[in-house]
Amino acid sequence: MEGPIPPPNGGKVLVIGAGLTGALVSHQLAEAGYQITCVDQGHIGFGSSSRSAACIRAQFSSETIVKAMVYAIRFYKNFGTTMGCDDEVIIQNGYLYPFWTWHEDLWDKAQTQALNMKEWGLAEVELLSPKEATERFPFLLSDGLLGARFSLTDGFLRPDVIMGEAFRHCREEHGVQMTLNCAVTGFITDGNQVTGAQTQKGAVEADVVINCTNAWTGQLMKNLPRPNNSFPVVSPHKRFLYFVDAGDVEIGNWPMTVLPSDAYCHPEHGKLMMGWKYNSRPEPDFKPEDQDKLGVGFHLKHTPVHYGHLMLQEMGFYLPEVQCMPGIHSAACGYYGVTPDSHPLIDWDPDYAGLIHAAGHSGHGAMFAPATALLVQKLLMPEMEIPFTLDHFRIKRDFTHGERNVI
Ligand SMILES: Cc1cc2nc3c(=O)[nH]c(=O)nc-3n(C[C@H](O)[C@H](O)[C@H](O)COP(=O)(O)OP(=O)(O)OC[C@H]3O[C@@H](n4cnc5c(N)ncnc54)[C@H](O)[C@@H]3O)c2cc1C
Repeated sequence: MEGPIPPPNGGKVLVIGAGLTGALVSHQLAEAGYQITCVDQGHIGFGSSSRSAACIRAQFSSETIVKAMVYAIRFYKNFGTTMGCDDEVIIQNGYLYPFWTWHEDLWDKAQTQALNMKEWGLAEVELLSPKEATERFPFLLSDGLLGARFSLTDGFLRPDVIMGEAFRHCREEHGVQMTLNCAVTGFITDGNQVTGAQTQKGAVEADVVINCTNAWTGQLMKNLPRPNNSFPVVSPHKRFLYFVDAGDVEIGNWPMTVLPSDAYCHPEHGKLMMGWKYNSRPEPDFKPEDQDKLGVGFHLKHTPVHYGHLMLQEMGFYLPEVQCMPGIHSAACGYYGVTPDSHPLIDWDPDYAGLIHAAGHSGHGAMFAPATALLVQKLLMPEMEIPFTLDHFRIKRDFTHGERNVI
């Protein structure tokens, strides 16, 4: 349900959630002239944003996402200038997708996708022959290698600096109010119009409230009665990262490498960070402290064989030098907020006016945050021109056409 009328510049906006999405949405709207209050139940980066692998790529399968990610990469490259700081927040060491003879179908798709990506604005994407791939990336298994897709403009982000500097700029330049350690406990409504929120520190009135709570969306929405199941599920699922001691193996120049099975790794602080999606059960009522609980089957100490060993085995087969590494050093985890098609919900609420959602970022909320912020501004200022469309992110959409390149 729209606005009903988007408030003019200077209108009051309450942003719930101080992760990467909340930080960049607050910043985008503050720059546009809105008066922002941002609240979080914990500190800045209390949720997934400080538990993220924070990789960024424009190699996606749909036009909208490729264009949005080309925009996001440019945003992060210009971050220092925008925020008035010296920090680089994006490290562009590339994303590599290698394929072997037993993945012929996937390699065919990867090549077609590369042509599409170029057409949609990702000029840097390259297709490498087996010889080119092993010359540039000698850590790849050469037996049976069919080729690889690579883009050097992809890489990884520094979420702590992004959130810290964006909120600093918000406060110093735009007087954005921040209230931390203060959960939103309910909404203030007038009929079907949301006019603010109840928090642990009192009521906050606003022309528009923006939900940037991602995996907590289901819990937050319990505060708004709905006549039907008109709101799609944002399902909290655990994801795990393992960090491998590289020993004498030189990994500093390895790009992010995504295997055909979607297991991935990249160097981080001298370790090899590995991730692999896992079909974990949804945890709709998770507590903040659950975010770091690895649990049986995943914890290094409690389990003789854990999920990290499977990842290590997968990596070691395709990247044989991994077999020479001393072993797994540590593990971490956090929640994805997953939608049925893995695209976020960025739209007005279907039942309540004055409420916008920017949540359900699945595995790409860190990289997508600049695009999310722009799309939220577009909802408030519909006449604005932006380089990609909102349609993919509407709450009332066909969820059967999901993003194929999700890890
Ligand atoms: C292991 C792992 C690896 C990942 N890897 C990548 C990756 O490589 N690239 C990528 O782009 N993305 C990745 N992601 C996903 C990415 O981290 C998230 O999509 C992104 O951080 C979401 O940011 P957010 O600000 O929307 O949500 P969050 O960072 O979770 O922030 C939500 C905030 O809302 C607050 N909140 C919740 N409920 C309330 C309430 N009632 N009142 C007040 N505040 C509330 C929370 O405290 C929290 O701070 C990964 C995630 C995980 C867990």
